[in-house]
Amino acid sequence: GFKCGIVGLPNVGKSTLFNALTKTAAAQAANYPFCTIEPNTGEVAVPDPRMREIAAVAKSQNIIPTRISFVDIAGLVRGASKGEGLGNQFLANIREVDAIVHVLRCFEDEDITHVEGRIDPVSDAETVETELMLSDLESLERRIVQIRKRATGKDKEALTVLPMMEKALELLQNGRPVRMLLKDIAPEDLSILQGLNLLTSKPVLYVCNVAESDAATGNDYTRAVEKMAKEQGAETVIISAAIEAEVAQLSDEEAKEFLDAIGLEEPGLDRLIRAGYKLLDLITYFTAGPKETRAWTIPRGTKAPQAAGVIHTDFERGFIRAQTIAYNDYVTLGGEVAAKEAGKARDEGKEYVVQDGDVMLFRFNT
Ligand code: GDP
Repeated sequence: GFKCGIVGLPNVGKSTLFNALTKTAAAQAANYPFCTIEPNTGEVAVPDPRMREIAAVAKSQNIIPTRISFVDIAGLVRGASKGEGLGNQFLANIREVDAIVHVLRCFEDEDITHVEGRIDPVSDAETVETELMLSDLESLERRIVQIRKRATGKDKEALTVLPMMEKALELLQNGRPVRMLLKDIAPEDLSILQGLNLLTSKPVLYVCNVAESDAATGNDYTRAVEKMAKEQGAETVIISAAIEAEVAQLSDEEAKEFLDAIGLEEPGLDRLIRAGYKLLDLITYFTAGPKETRAWTIPRGTKAPQAAGVIHTDFERGFIRAQTIAYNDYVTLGGEVAAKEAGKARDEGKEYVVQDGDVMLFRFNT
């Protein structure tokens, strides 16, 4: 599955947030068959109001959401790239995630020590980023020596990866993260970059952890983080981890009342999960029938056979074609039969790129 790693300095609220994520009713939905939760990894349902609409039309008995994983990555301190704290373990854990959720402390509390002795989320973000960049720099400098040698000897693989390595190295030497290269990257270069498995090439989103009283409005700290994030082209989510931990324990109705009272429309976790999903550049397609309406996750740009393969490998191997109805057509026309009559059920082949919201029916050989 797809994983977001939760990182940040000690005492910023990572574990509080992680525990809230794994305690939500959504995380424990009983009708999900693959809900495995390891100590520091939790699967959460991706909230998507479209499922309810589709299920109403299809008269489905069950709704099965799609899921993503969050990993609580503890142990980052200044000097981690030199092995301080749980440095090496920490860096190894980051290598395994697809994207980074960077939690920043934007709450004041005399009783909770800040490792750097003052509340300054932008400077905290730089501290963490610096450790990641130092680690990447060291690993690239080590690897590139070999690759340059092989490239001189006209080694094909070395010649392919060297230009990307040089670009990444130059950025890091200028104190900038490698994800700056992601902006207008060609697909073939993207896979080369991902193959380098650098820490700072992973997409990042910032979570501002605020006091309850600032949850609806933000504060001066969150505004400073938003400014920094905007310069990087990154997203920011404002959340009060302490509130989320409470809300996660409530029933849906109680939670709604509680959130109303503090001026929030929905749990911050829902916003965070959706932001994580977007960060991973994932989209959702649906299958719908009387038994269940179910959401499935694919990376944007996935073609129909590979999308079918997410349900079962046989679906991909024996793929013949797919019937596709766009979400809006499905819901406004009133389901499969009506969509067919209206000519809105398209027959698509192997080259079809599945779109977000497609309601799919696959035909395949077994
Ligand atoms: P981690 O080290 O980043 O995982 O941080 P924790 O989640 O363990 O939180 C550290 C301490 O800060 C704990 O005592 C939490 O209860 C407290 N904490 C977390 N979030 C908030 C918050 O939004 N407001 C306040 N006042 N305390 C918080």
